[in-house]
Amino acid sequence: MFDALTSRMSRTLAGLRSRGRINPVDLEVTCGEIRTALLEADVALAVVDSLIAQVQRRGLEALSLKQAGINPGQQVITIIHEEILNILGTNARSLAVAKKPPTRIMLAGLQGSGKTTLAGKLALWLKEQGNTPLLVACDLARPNAVQQLQIIGEQIGVSVFAPEPGNGIGNPVTVAKAGLVHAEQKLFNYVIFDTAGRLGVDVELMKEARAIKSAVEPDDTLFVVDAMTGQDAVNTANAFNTGVGIDGVVLTKVDGNARAGAALSVTSVIGKPILFLSTGEKSTEFEPFYPDRMAQRILGMGDVATLAEQAKKALDEKSAARLEEKFVTGEEFTFDDFLEQLQAMKKMGSMSKLLGMLPGMPGAQGAQLKKQIEAIDDSETDRAAAIIQSMTPQERSNPKIINGSRRLRIARGSGHEVSSVNRLLERFAGAQKAMKQMKNARPGALPQGLPPGLAAPTSARPPQRPAKKSRSGNPAKRAEQERG
Ligand code: GDP
Repeated sequence: MFDALTSRMSRTLAGLRSRGRINPVDLEVTCGEIRTALLEADVALAVVDSLIAQVQRRGLEALSLKQAGINPGQQVITIIHEEILNILGTNARSLAVAKKPPTRIMLAGLQGSGKTTLAGKLALWLKEQGNTPLLVACDLARPNAVQQLQIIGEQIGVSVFAPEPGNGIGNPVTVAKAGLVHAEQKLFNYVIFDTAGRLGVDVELMKEARAIKSAVEPDDTLFVVDAMTGQDAVNTANAFNTGVGIDGVVLTKVDGNARAGAALSVTSVIGKPILFLSTGEKSTEFEPFYPDRMAQRILGMGDVATLAEQAKKALDEKSAARLEEKFVTGEEFTFDDFLEQLQAMKKMGSMSKLLGMLPGMPGAQGAQLKKQIEAIDDSETDRAAAIIQSMTPQERSNPKIINGSRRLRIARGSGHEVSSVNRLLERFAGAQKAMKQMKNARPGALPQGLPPGLAAPTSARPPQRPAKKSRSGNPAKRAEQERG
């Protein structure tokens, strides 16, 4: 997400941090770099110019005051952080809660923006928090939109109210009203209306959306917009705000596209908060939008809070608590824990997404960490799981006993080469060591719920071999040596 922007911004900030003194010329250079980075990410020109003017004005002021004991570079970084936060919106808020349930949420937007997918994600998110959402299929225009919502509902275990088949048949306003009555009668506490979109903003689309809105009087009308559409995202948001009236924005498809930066201008251009981000096609690839966390991510400071939340969700509560306990008490980290973490990491999404949430680290160490994490792909996770599953319980809890012959047996049992077993053992040793290092370096610094293995690659050190140097590289020979 916003990878190019993040890497440019973190480079600029690293430059500022490394300087002891800063003069007005340095400030101007910094502002120039930030301006280019934001424009390249497609943030609206007016928004960029106003941000740069603020940073320049406040930066000069800070430099002229020269407060004793305060690093001027850090001061300028704080100003940049605050101004980015201003663009993203200080008026952030969560979803509405009606005084008298059900809370009504209407989704509006263009066809293909990801409304139906989002309806499911939102329902699942609400359900996970103990709510009882109902999905109402009011998109009767797009072919198969009703069926798509029904399938999603089934997958996530949420009821779908769909009295009309859609595909051009049925009246969406009637369905919306009936859906609301159904939700009231059956005591659903949230009702989400998925409405039709068109390929472009048109009079019919606005008329229909307005009619549904006045029929159900939503507590929140959310405009769903494909962030990949660049500056158009801001223009359509504007059109919907004027034509229908919206309360907030949901950005979809923010997964890894530089142009997505345009959508970040939505709040400052139309004055409506972003409530959620949709970060992929899976129902779980969804997160509430927190401007402060996003500002940190953009500036390369990472978003460990979101990462920890996702980790907590991916690990069941019992194992998360156990891992935390192990981390705190310094108890030995075993292959069973490692396997659990690998599986949780897989549930959390792709490595590149997780990578975006880790604080950027300058220099060679950062580059090495990035390379290490990028190297972990889903197939590797499956391979690792198969290898660990071929270990005996004793081997999993005490990996030190895994000698050459055991390695050979594990490799055969899991259908892999001994070299893969060796690599996994090395990675495990690295994770174990990093966990100890982190614990010793900053006790209690780890956010609650973050599995230690996730932090493990931060060791960024060449893995150490548990085997002695004198042992043979040939597994069969080594097995023989060890037998001897
Ligand atoms: P609707 O016409 O607004 O209801 O759009 P859909 O919900 O059918 O989504 C259109 C397409 O975008 C589908 O293929 C979705 O799988 C895909 N999609 C939706 N949200 C995301 C997202 O956050 N990331 C990515 N990569 N694809 C998405």
